[in-house]
Amino acid sequence: MKGVSGIKIKILLKQHVGAPCKTTVKIGQEIKKGELIAEPEGLGANIHSSVYGIVVDINDAIVIEMADDQPKYFMPIADTSCNIEAVKEAGVVGAGGAGFPTHVKLNAKLNDGYVLVNTAECEPILKHNIKLIEEKPELLIRGLKYAMEMTKAKKAYIAIKPNHKKAIIILGKAIKFEQNIEIKFLPNMYPAGDERVVIRETLGVELEPGQLPNAVNAVVFNVETLKNVALAIEERRPVIAKDVTVGGRIKGDVDGKVFLNAPIGMPVDHYVNLAGGLEKNSGEIVIGGPFTGIAGHENSPITKTTGGVLVGMVFPNDNRKFGILACECGAQEDRLTEIVDGMGGTVVAAEKCKRMVEVNGRYRCDKPGECPGQTETVLKLKKAGAEAIIVGTCED
Ligand code: SF4
Repeated sequence: MKGVSGIKIKILLKQHVGAPCKTTVKIGQEIKKGELIAEPEGLGANIHSSVYGIVVDINDAIVIEMADDQPKYFMPIADTSCNIEAVKEAGVVGAGGAGFPTHVKLNAKLNDGYVLVNTAECEPILKHNIKLIEEKPELLIRGLKYAMEMTKAKKAYIAIKPNHKKAIIILGKAIKFEQNIEIKFLPNMYPAGDERVVIRETLGVELEPGQLPNAVNAVVFNVETLKNVALAIEERRPVIAKDVTVGGRIKGDVDGKVFLNAPIGMPVDHYVNLAGGLEKNSGEIVIGGPFTGIAGHENSPITKTTGGVLVGMVFPNDNRKFGILACECGAQEDRLTEIVDGMGGTVVAAEKCKRMVEVNGRYRCDKPGECPGQTETVLKLKKAGAEAIIVGTCED
């Protein structure tokens, strides 16, 4: 390596469900793009370097100072005996936000079941999945066919909202000669991207809260996850980049800009600046979508599950007493409390949508997208002293 650039990236050791990975590199070590730098202990996924550089720190992340020279070449994943092993070796996880290791899902034997592609990209502003479909439909279809082959599925449905007309036409052409792949429509509502909604709309089966897709002989994959499956198998490419949408209070932008293949570990402000930079009077940076995103900051690193980088408005000053109404598919109590704190208010009571039921210690929505009126809950919050109510629910 000739020299270092002074630019540091931060590759988190936890980018998936399960415990943080264990690093396989040391401080001071020179590393190449694509090199394995951390391995899971139990459920998880391999992590690889997205750049050439030198390891300068290891804490909850591996901090790498980038080399001046960044060749396109990446180290391919180790040799494997089958496609599932290649997906595992490449560290593919659910790119839609869940971060579940993809090789575990692909191990399901569906015996004539279904692979479902979730293209809902439900939250406002986000559009990188649809952009990928429009630009590289064949990559998605190849990833899907590998997934069908590995799981022995007989049929695949691509679930998409009817308002994505251009993507639907492009997909239609891409599957023209595919006997076992069909397009199915999702309702134009939030949260159509919930797995249980995708199953309800494609297979006509209503899963119980907490029930998994394998109960109906199906697996559900996000668009970018299938892209990464194809790249792992065909190019031996580890997951070292992420597709993201940057939007909100960005100069000159109202609609969100897509960056395909942003190196994992890059600070998000790099992409905020590339998109146009911050507008005057901009507020917090939210990582994720407007409904379910979490507060981040300019140095938050891109991870395998980062979808949106959204710049919010400055919180208005409002020091009233607030009631909180959370939704399983939207903002939860923690996030709503953060917003109230940001405004200078006080939380006096918190309630959940009445459709949220507790399953194995976690609240889940009983019927995602079939949202009830919330009058009773609102009255309860008022009775508890709330002067204003902040809702994470997607319907009023
Ligand atoms: S029913 Fe309630 S918890 Fe479920 S999506 Fe609608 S508002 Fe959210």
